[in-house]
Amino acid sequence: PTPEAPKPQMQLERRHQSISSILSVSYKSPIPMLGATFQYMYDAFGNSILDAYNNIPHVGHCHPKVVEAGQRQMATLNTNTRYLYDLLPAYAEKLLAKFPPSLSKVYFVNSGSAASDLAMRLAQAHTGSKNFMVMEHGYHGNTQIAMDISDYKFSNKKGLGQKPNILKVPIPDSYLGKYQEDDGSAGKKYAQDAISMMGDFHDKIGAFITEPIVGCGGQVPLAKGYLKELYPAIRKQGGICISDEVQTGFGRIGHHFWGYEAQEVVPDMVILGKPMGNGHPIGAVITTDEIAASFSQGVEFFSSFGGNPVSCAIGLSVLEVLEEEQLQQNALEVGTHYMDLFKDLQTRHSCIGDVRGSGLFLGVEIVQEGTKNPNTSLASLLKNELRNRNILISTDGPNDNVLKTKPPLCFNKANAETVVSTIEDVLKEIQ
Ligand code: PMP
Repeated sequence: PTPEAPKPQMQLERRHQSISSILSVSYKSPIPMLGATFQYMYDAFGNSILDAYNNIPHVGHCHPKVVEAGQRQMATLNTNTRYLYDLLPAYAEKLLAKFPPSLSKVYFVNSGSAASDLAMRLAQAHTGSKNFMVMEHGYHGNTQIAMDISDYKFSNKKGLGQKPNILKVPIPDSYLGKYQEDDGSAGKKYAQDAISMMGDFHDKIGAFITEPIVGCGGQVPLAKGYLKELYPAIRKQGGICISDEVQTGFGRIGHHFWGYEAQEVVPDMVILGKPMGNGHPIGAVITTDEIAASFSQGVEFFSSFGGNPVSCAIGLSVLEVLEEEQLQQNALEVGTHYMDLFKDLQTRHSCIGDVRGSGLFLGVEIVQEGTKNPNTSLASLLKNELRNRNILISTDGPNDNVLKTKPPLCFNKANAETVVSTIEDVLKEIQ
């Protein structure tokens, strides 16, 4: 803690003098943060805060092994890919080993947005088409191309609207959507609807992009069987299939290392970001030899920072920590317990309409009692009350009524119990 009493309001005013207010802050009373370790953050008032929200510090905030790898490399060599250093292929090889053999080339960039942008350029180079099929409520980043393919942004009331080269398909949501069977038939039906929309589109589709669990859509897992039905149809008409694993990747979902694996498909391209560098800005596009060869016919690709030795050292250490600490397994075990606790809570509180997701990537839909109608104000109250009790969680979804929890993967069962019992305390108090 700082010796002087922190003054968040003054900090905010100072921030607004030089930083645009378009950068929002979380919570009605924003938190002045001083530090963080593993699944805990420390505010300027001396509070330890349980982080049930931040997925970027994937293996834990300020993990000492990752910090040390970055510090050591920063003091040794930091340059760009125009020189030879073995950390680049060493990291590329270790990362590609996490994918099936068809996904054999990697491009390193510095954010999920840069990765999405590059992916669409690669797709265009390979297929010759600028037409992209995208997911309702999907989000892929902040560059112009990434915004064009992100319904979450272009359909926002302040957004620029859907461009003519974009085909948006309905989210295969088996809680709120048109088909709700959980035996795999709903996924198939949603896919068939998407295929018929593709048939009605004015031109062929060059690429289809989606997250396997749509984060900004409110943690909505694609209905079972959806991609398995849809991918062959995209490819048949000459398009490629892209999985955005920025949020779902690197073992977070527990039962699989990548989200697409749960849908039993292999994409032609994968987008990576957030957890890759545990907070250090790294992103990547993974693709096939054939797509990489098409892209190599065009102008040179260069990124000043993408694949620099410091980023490679950090990315490598994240993969090592994931293995050493068996964090995918932890995500599975703790995530299953966490989900069970939420499902148990749901039996006592009818404001919880749905509990979904997998591993440590969960969504809890807050509804008006006895209906599926969103209860946005209750979701907001829960988020803010949890913050007052030193727990970070967020809300998202088109109605902002889904509690979103995606903590660092070192989160433990006692942490999960703390979150769920605190939510129950709040619910009892307001009833
Ligand atoms: N894709 C997805 C699914 C994301 O959630 C995000 C970031 N929220 C991005 C891409 C963009 O990543 P970045 O913010 O690192 O540019």
